[in-house]
Amino acid sequence: MQKELELAILPEKMEDLVHIKMEAAKKAGLSPKRILGVRIRKRSIDARGKQVLYRVRVLLFIDEPEPNSTFEVSYPMVSDVSPVIIIGAGPAGLFAALQCIENHLKPIVIERGKDVKERRRDLALLNKEGIVNEDSNYCFGEGGAGTYSDGKLYTRSNKRGDIEKVLQIFVAHGATEDILVDARPHIGTNKLPHIIERMRQTILEHGGEICFNSRVVDIVVEQQQVRGVALATGEEVRADKVILATGHSARDIFELFQKKQWEVEAKAFALGVRIEHPQSVVDRVQYHCDVRSEFLPPAYYSLVEQVEGRGVFSFCMCPGGIIAPCATGQGEVVVNGWSPSKRNNPYANSGTVVQINLEDVPGSRQDAFAMLRFQQAVERKAFELGGGALVAPAQRMVDFVEGRISTDLPVNSYKPGLSSADLKEVLPGFVHSALKGALPLFGQKMKGYYTNEAVLVGVESRTSSPIRIPRDKDTLQHPQIVGLYPCGEGAGYAGGIVSAAIDGINCANACIGC
Ligand SMILES: Cc1cc2nc3c(=O)[nH]c(=O)nc-3n(C[C@H](O)[C@H](O)[C@H](O)COP(=O)(O)OP(=O)(O)OC[C@H]3O[C@@H](n4cnc5c(N)ncnc54)[C@H](O)[C@@H]3O)c2cc1C
Repeated sequence: MQKELELAILPEKMEDLVHIKMEAAKKAGLSPKRILGVRIRKRSIDARGKQVLYRVRVLLFIDEPEPNSTFEVSYPMVSDVSPVIIIGAGPAGLFAALQCIENHLKPIVIERGKDVKERRRDLALLNKEGIVNEDSNYCFGEGGAGTYSDGKLYTRSNKRGDIEKVLQIFVAHGATEDILVDARPHIGTNKLPHIIERMRQTILEHGGEICFNSRVVDIVVEQQQVRGVALATGEEVRADKVILATGHSARDIFELFQKKQWEVEAKAFALGVRIEHPQSVVDRVQYHCDVRSEFLPPAYYSLVEQVEGRGVFSFCMCPGGIIAPCATGQGEVVVNGWSPSKRNNPYANSGTVVQINLEDVPGSRQDAFAMLRFQQAVERKAFELGGGALVAPAQRMVDFVEGRISTDLPVNSYKPGLSSADLKEVLPGFVHSALKGALPLFGQKMKGYYTNEAVLVGVESRTSSPIRIPRDKDTLQHPQIVGLYPCGEGAGYAGGIVSAAIDGINCANACIGC
């Protein structure tokens, strides 16, 4: 017999499985001897009360042994079957490639950037010298924006597909099983590159191909049927199916669509700043204590407010994290955040952004590129105000709200450096005003959040794609081109690692008509 129960466990007892079994037996009214297995199904922190607790959902195996629960996909050899070209080796592209193999199709993944190891050198140049390689940066290269991301693996949407399968594939390639049970699963920047390398091995071992340093500059179409792609080197790769998974920063791909007069449309997105607090401030507020217990992870927050009729919300919160320079082109400043698996940096950051709708940007209903140009203008302004070399404009939180330039800035995690500025000069007026209204309200919800110890760093502008590439909702193909599958975040069908991976799986399934 099996039975599911919810338990409240003290943080210091969370690793003690005997204790958990005894608690489960007590709650179920059973002798512990009858419980032959306890499996943790879900685990979350409940910090609402004075005593912080773990809420744990367990499955008990009563008078029966716990069965093995290993996840297995058997990948066939596909070296000699029909090819599918996948442009982009981000989460959408890699999961599409694995699903193609499962579907007996041969994936040929074409990636403009370098493999994870080579890519690391370009990230060092970005951080130390402020030099941007336009093919190899935090967004471009093996694993896409997902590799040196924070690796939080939750998605707001349950409807898109099989989240469990995505998590299991990560575990099969080296992620810890914790991600299967944590309410807020997280891998961490230090672990993701190894997982991505192992995914590459699976693809290669089963007959798929991966080409790095290969920027696609054209999609070859004959009589409205896709036939392949052309690379910057002049080479052509042929296939009748192409999954386009190039991410939200591949502006040259959007321009290619414009040149070819293929349909694209402007899309709403969100824009704002990254906010960094000392982690100790967030711990103190969230865990109601002076110093965080060693049994609790660095604390998290999630905040949302309606101000002047628009949503302002925290996004991609990274406890124990670092603010990273995520520009993909020259003359722009873009920030995002990551954290290592232990989340052991002394800072906590989150994107804090304002919803930008089509009606906010004049002309965006007629001009598919209006939202992108709006995004780009803000990124360029941030570069100018920062003063070059990816130095980012920044302002302390209370100074921002009260309209003062900060006389100094706190010690912070952003390696290229911050320069004190009036962020009003960077942010569009309605974004500035909505943020200004929201921050004190966030402070009322989370006492201690609204403080001049926190710094706002401009700009968080790549929250999702400002353009959508349309596709038929059943076949997932572009309405004008048979065999072209717009996929993932860049095409406007995902926002984050898990949803991009799910969309990759869906596009690979669409390639076999299911
Ligand atoms: C610093 C940072 C932290 C993040 N943290 C999180 C997080 O914790 N959780 C989360 O869910 N999301 C996070 N994200 C967002 C997440 O990484 C993206 O949502 C996700 O990677 C999108 O997947 P994708 O495959 O659609 O596109 P991408 O990951 O953007 O991949 C697109 C790929 O296409 C390649 N490409 C582009 N143009 C071409 C071309 N012309 N030819 C060949 N290849 C091309 C690019 O080089 C890239 O590798 C973070 C992002 C960043 C930058």
